[in-house]
Amino acid sequence: DADELVGAVHRLMAHADGKRRLRVRANADTAEDAFRARRYGAQGIGLCRTEHMFLGERRELVERLILADSETEREEALGELLPMQKQDFVRLFEAMDGLPVTVRLLDPPLHEFLPDITELSVRVALAEARGDSQENELRLLQAVHKLHESNPMLGLRGVRLGLVIPGLFAMQIRAIAEAAVERARAGGDPRPEIMIPLVGTVQELQLVRDEAEQVLASVRAANADSKSALKRLRIKLGTMIELPRAALTAGQIAEEAEFFSFGTNDLTQTVWGFSRDDVEASFFTAYLEKGIFGVSPFETLDVDGVGSLVARAVEDGRRTRPDLKLGVCGEHGGDPDSVHFFHQVGLDYVSCSPFRLPIARLEAGRAVVVQSAGGSDSR
Ligand code: PEP
Ligand code: MG
Repeated sequence: DADELVGAVHRLMAHADGKRRLRVRANADTAEDAFRARRYGAQGIGLCRTEHMFLGERRELVERLILADSETEREEALGELLPMQKQDFVRLFEAMDGLPVTVRLLDPPLHEFLPDITELSVRVALAEARGDSQENELRLLQAVHKLHESNPMLGLRGVRLGLVIPGLFAMQIRAIAEAAVERARAGGDPRPEIMIPLVGTVQELQLVRDEAEQVLASVRAANADSKSALKRLRIKLGTMIELPRAALTAGQIAEEAEFFSFGTNDLTQTVWGFSRDDVEASFFTAYLEKGIFGVSPFETLDVDGVGSLVARAVEDGRRTRPDLKLGVCGEHGGDPDSVHFFHQVGLDYVSCSPFRLPIARLEAGRAVVVQSAGGSDSR
């Protein structure tokens, strides 16, 4: 009956968990997702995409921040965002108490936060036709036009945004640190880690690290009275490896990163040179039909291409920093075949969506069995 089946599944999972070397984390952005992830066996959060926290009514604040043309305006927007972000993290750390939570700093493609340029142009044209004043719309249109990009996924994203908009990353880092303090003072055990997206060169990481250290020093100074708060403010700083240049210079990047998380979605996009958003609509079906791919490289890791970059970055990164922590948080983290590859190259963990956790645990266990049987997979 149903109970028997559930019992068998639990025994199977326990067996796989007893075998596996890879740890398994979840990609989760909210406390609700985090609770679900724990139920499915997550040993931490490997990717919290903070851009998801800025949708809905907060979108307008980010728009104001990006388009601000005075420091006062920018600081106002940041001042409003800080307490909201802090609350987001308090809830997330509470849900994941005692487990690592990798928070990725903001990485939106810019166009998701800007008013639609076509819509704006139409509004301006209509106002003009009516003979109405259009000063504000025109100013907005000019500002948006300046930031308009033909390839937003290759544009002002990730760390670039953090370096171009003063105070943005500092606000997020402060929110993470202050949330950790709040949880620690309430008797909790928050374990945040800060992750920088879309890094291509070690210099970007150096700049963010300097900024992070300033913020953390100020939060530490304000909490010097609490031992538990100070302990939880030793926050690891790491990076996504999701650009070919980052993978190729992993040895240098590891000087400034305490962990790497492979962003195999963007890495697949940039290694192959095709857009992860458009690919299915353009030529993918034809490629699948012609057998150029057996399966989409966005689903199962392209071991020969993307995989060889991952393997090289693992080796170079660990040569620089033997205790470098290594994970993956692209969609491949929950794909069975890819999990076997990540085990073989020696990652410490895979991170995937909560619903894929059982599969990831199972395959991580099987990867050990397959390896000790000399690599023959009898699936
Ligand atoms: C990735 O690129 O693999 C990744 C995890 O980041 P995102 O999907 O948010 O770009
Ligand atoms: Mg990415």
